Amino acid sequence: MSKIRILSDALASQVAAGEVVERPAAVIRELVENSLDAKATHVTVEVQRGGTAMIRITDDGVGMDREDALLCIERHATSKIRSKEDLAAVRTFGFRGEALPSIASVSRFRLATRERESLSGTEIEITGGKLSGVKDHGGSGGTVIEVRSLFFNVPARRKFLRTEATEYAHIEQQFRTHAIANPQVTFTLIRDGGVAFHLPGTQAVLDRVRGLSGDDLAKRLIQVERIETQGIAVWGFIGGPGVSRSSRQQQLTFLNGRPIESQPINYGLREGFHTTLMKGQYPVTFLFLEMDAEAFDVNVHPAKKEVRFHDGFAVREAVAKAVRCALEAAGKLPDGHPSTTPRSMAQALQLRPEVVLPSVPQQQAFTMPVTPSSRPSITAAPMFEMRRPLSAKADESAVAKSVNHTIEQDVPASSSPASVTVAAPAPAQPVVKPAPPQFRIIGVLHRLYVLMESAEGLVLMDQHAAHERVNFEKMRRAMELGGVPSQRLLMPLMLQTSPRDGDILKRHLDSLAKLGIEAEPFGPNTFKIEALPTFLKTEDPLAWLDQVIEELQSLSSKSSSLRLGEDMIATTVCRHSVKANDRLSMPEIEALLADLFACEMPYCCPHGRPTLIQMSMNELEKKFGRLAP
Ligand code: ADP
Ligand code: MG
Repeated sequence: MSKIRILSDALASQVAAGEVVERPAAVIRELVENSLDAKATHVTVEVQRGGTAMIRITDDGVGMDREDALLCIERHATSKIRSKEDLAAVRTFGFRGEALPSIASVSRFRLATRERESLSGTEIEITGGKLSGVKDHGGSGGTVIEVRSLFFNVPARRKFLRTEATEYAHIEQQFRTHAIANPQVTFTLIRDGGVAFHLPGTQAVLDRVRGLSGDDLAKRLIQVERIETQGIAVWGFIGGPGVSRSSRQQQLTFLNGRPIESQPINYGLREGFHTTLMKGQYPVTFLFLEMDAEAFDVNVHPAKKEVRFHDGFAVREAVAKAVRCALEAAGKLPDGHPSTTPRSMAQALQLRPEVVLPSVPQQQAFTMPVTPSSRPSITAAPMFEMRRPLSAKADESAVAKSVNHTIEQDVPASSSPASVTVAAPAPAQPVVKPAPPQFRIIGVLHRLYVLMESAEGLVLMDQHAAHERVNFEKMRRAMELGGVPSQRLLMPLMLQTSPRDGDILKRHLDSLAKLGIEAEPFGPNTFKIEALPTFLKTEDPLAWLDQVIEELQSLSSKSSSLRLGEDMIATTVCRHSVKANDRLSMPEIEALLADLFACEMPYCCPHGRPTLIQMSMNELEKKFGRLAP
């Protein structure tokens, strides 16, 4: 007797349902996609008990006539593709004709639909995949689909559902994704009878973000201007340095308006955010990619969530570039447009607690009290201020020197009115630098936080983090220019390694040399270390080298040696280049500030931690009860 059987249609649908409909949120994904494909301008999602009891999607789309309404619940019934060629160019969300029959096979399903111009509509009821009723429907134009008791006839699947709260969280995430992807559509989410979100249609994605996540987040986003590279356009909004999450929930990416998840995009984001992101943190993104439909394949994932790019590397590059440009632009100020300063500064400094840099006049100045001993005054007496502009063309060390020099020369112990204006040094290329904001240094807290007054309130600088950023960029520049300065050791060190570590070291000797580490194989599993980077300040260089090897191991899959070096600098060298709790003199603080604002990314250390935070007067007044919170 033959063993192979053709599955009954009902069973096939249930099997397909397992792929397409893992949970209530997936039902919402499919139904909302259908509504959008039907050109709806208003979509309402209602759920009860995390979608397990009831899901209802109401739209004002094109609706269906009776014939289509009956057909749409058949397997492989779709109005969206007719041929193989259509499949290649599919622009709508659906195309498999699988969703409705799958959902209907595992629920009590009701579909009511009417084409706007027809006199009456159709209502269909299906229970566990079996048609149980067809009648006229008198509702307005559009479609309502109701899904009750999901998985009532598939207990095994019902058991896999999580708590109602968890299922609802997934639903909300799904809803958010659709809402961001389609800001022009009015979306409403009703949870157990109460309105959770009502989002009127808008042209601006940022309005939609505000509607979903509040003004707070919207303010902390940086715009990614549309850039097109190799036929891939990228634009949208991303969180500035310091805005990150411990999960990917707010890392939303879209391809031609379709929410997608993709490895090349994730890599591109990592690469683009690079040192502005802490380990284990994910960026906040609302990033839109647009490209020719020929350049990718959506037909690989049953839920169409994942796409395959024909040139994944190009996608990764395009995303990285767009993010990098946006982050850099946010920290920079176009010459001659002082009005843009507060905004770009504020955007770059979107950190918690409220971090907004002061507005900066075109003539930049750091002002500070003239003697380290001068105590902050509790009277309203102004601190002294004398501006002494330095040449903007001076190189970095010259600036630092002049600052020290100025202070030593011009500031006698008795506090005569004096302060220094430091112009940010011009980099080799005519890149537009961020304007250093005006701060008055108040003092140093616990040898770690430099307290400063800005136009907006109190600014704190983590001197350690600031040092790390400055050193990181210095070393990276040195590395790009041919190598980190290194220091010959009087006595070469002998480093013993395991055979595996030895192999890794051997493969990276060139990169290590660029990083100021001169190592040479010396017998089996032994290396002679002849020079180490000058920046390195550690008691135990061998232990440090072990860390470097560990770093090499975790990075060995990455391609570029520059990136490898950057990561190494960020993770190892930097940490050893600043001693914690060093007492800094006022001129040193001044120089540190100048150096920090000469950096490409001044607002966070190479590990993504903030270097500066600000508490606005507003924030302080709220804390002291002068303002209603
Ligand atoms: P697919 O979306 O892959 O075509 P579905 O099973 O999701 O398959 O839907 C089947 C068909 O039913 C669609 O192609 C469409 O013609 C019709 N349809 C589904 N939902 C709606 C809706 N909300 N408004 C109008 N037509 C719809
Ligand atoms: Mg569909």
